[in-house]
Amino acid sequence: MKVIFKNLVRKNVLALAPYSSARDEFTEVADVYIDANENPYNWDYNRYPDPYQQTLKNAISEWKNVPAENLFLGNGSDEIIDLLIRGFCEPQIDQILTFNPSYGMYNVSADINHVAVRTFPLDENFEFDRDEFIRKIEPNDKLIFICSPNNPSGNTYSNEDIISICNRFSGLVVVDEAYIDFADTRSMVSYIRQIPNLVVMQTLSKAMGAAGIRLGIGFMDIELVTILNKIKPPYNINEASQKIALSIVKNRKEKMAQVSEILNERAKVTDQISHYKFVKKVFPTEANFVLVRVDDADHLYRYLLSKGIVARNRNKQFRCEGCIRFTIGTPSENQVLMNALNEYQNQN
Ligand SMILES: *Cc1c(COP(=O)(O)O)cnc(C)c1O
Repeated sequence: MKVIFKNLVRKNVLALAPYSSARDEFTEVADVYIDANENPYNWDYNRYPDPYQQTLKNAISEWKNVPAENLFLGNGSDEIIDLLIRGFCEPQIDQILTFNPSYGMYNVSADINHVAVRTFPLDENFEFDRDEFIRKIEPNDKLIFICSPNNPSGNTYSNEDIISICNRFSGLVVVDEAYIDFADTRSMVSYIRQIPNLVVMQTLSKAMGAAGIRLGIGFMDIELVTILNKIKPPYNINEASQKIALSIVKNRKEKMAQVSEILNERAKVTDQISHYKFVKKVFPTEANFVLVRVDDADHLYRYLLSKGIVARNRNKQFRCEGCIRFTIGTPSENQVLMNALNEYQNQN
């Protein structure tokens, strides 16, 4: 199916003239900058940041082996989710399509933008039938969000299935790979040059250990980058975040060592948890968390809280009845959790 971005983008977005910042109008190097009403006394942060984050994008481009022109950076992936909805979905007319259960921000961003959300129910193993899903696509669906590995379940979806959805859909397929560095399944980033309606999102918030700086990475067709650049806040990635992100990208080996330790711990934790009598099911995971079904999730959740341990109670979410989600911590944090679970078992 041929995807024509001009027809997909909202009409007002297509027509609008974006804010032209001082740093847009003059991009060369000068001796005296008196164009942006900044305080002239130099220190690290007296100047506005690069609105297009070129240095950072070049470093990410080399890391991910994707041209810098195919990158869009957001104030967290959450900003990219919002900008995609805002750019492509006409409020009260267009819809987004996603799965249930999945990451909550797709719904929240759609709600804020007055865009309807249609959800396709995952089965009890958090899988879906691809052809049945494709049959359910409606003409007003503009964006499909696929979270892989999925939050809160931890499983992934096959590249093959996602590609066939892309091929059968005239809108954008957004694959949220927030947890891909913990997964055996391969990233879909390498497909974005061949599949124009595929958008892949990653983030520095999880494996890269920098949730606090808010840096999300969108991989997409150049035309889509142009559209998002039109509607983003001019300086959406602040200078401090750009600098820290650059140093993280350059020192990524350090983070990848932490990821392998987390993966070792994940194997240990999932194995140990599966032996408790009150545990009914440990769902297979390719992320840095594990979803566990227990006899009484609310009771266990409150017990852990009383021990100073905060897990995520997913008991009320569709398909997650009786489930708690545990993020994999440091070895000593995981030990604290195991000690508490041992005690819980002995008392109940
Ligand atoms: C944590 C998470 C994100 C991260 O969002 P940021 O705004 O980049 O911190 C995105 N998607 C999913 C599914 C997540 O769980």
